[in-house]
Amino acid sequence: MMRALRKLELTLAILKPDVVAQPHILKEIRSVILQQEFLFVRSKKLILSPTRAKEFYKEHDGKFFLNRLVSFMSSGPIWTHILARENAIPEWRRIMGPTKVLKTIHEAPETIRGRFGLTDTRNCTHGSDSTETAAREIKFFFPEFSIGKWHDTEETHFFSRQVSLDEDLCQHVSLQDVSDAIS
Ligand code: UDP
Ligand code: MG
Repeated sequence: MMRALRKLELTLAILKPDVVAQPHILKEIRSVILQQEFLFVRSKKLILSPTRAKEFYKEHDGKFFLNRLVSFMSSGPIWTHILARENAIPEWRRIMGPTKVLKTIHEAPETIRGRFGLTDTRNCTHGSDSTETAAREIKFFFPEFSIGKWHDTEETHFFSRQVSLDEDLCQHVSLQDVSDAIS
């Protein structure tokens, strides 16, 4: 049997410690995410240990900025989100803007990094850069989550926007589940 065509894509977004430390910026970035029609599939707030941060960024082993990046990423709470949308992976990276904030503030000032980034390291957000990376990164933070199962069971509610936002959890939940919980 052919697998049903996937309409929505999932990506892993991180709101980094610079953002989480500034509640009004956190709020503004969340509202940009919603305006751009992303849906919050799962969300977690946590503090990364330096060891876990190093593991997450292992592709950057040996780079000059790795130590700085690891100490920044483990310096305070972060929010991690599984986001859903059509073309979520490239679209999330597009609204984040280019990595290097000190250039981005001039070249793409309307992007998240252009608006709120502080330095090339403290650049607000992370976004997966490919389907393979998204799968690895979603698993890294949400080991209990199955991408395949989500597409089979939840995607249809998200695609037809039969979901509502639980603001406390920062998660969209299927309206079906909401009415089951009430009745
Ligand atoms: N980074 C840095 N200095 C650099 C390049 C990257 O501190 O010159 C940090 C920055 O926080 C960036 C992260 O390392 O977001 C990962 O780098 P990557 O090249 O993967 O950029 P991204 O995918 O986040 O745009
Ligand atoms: Mg990257």
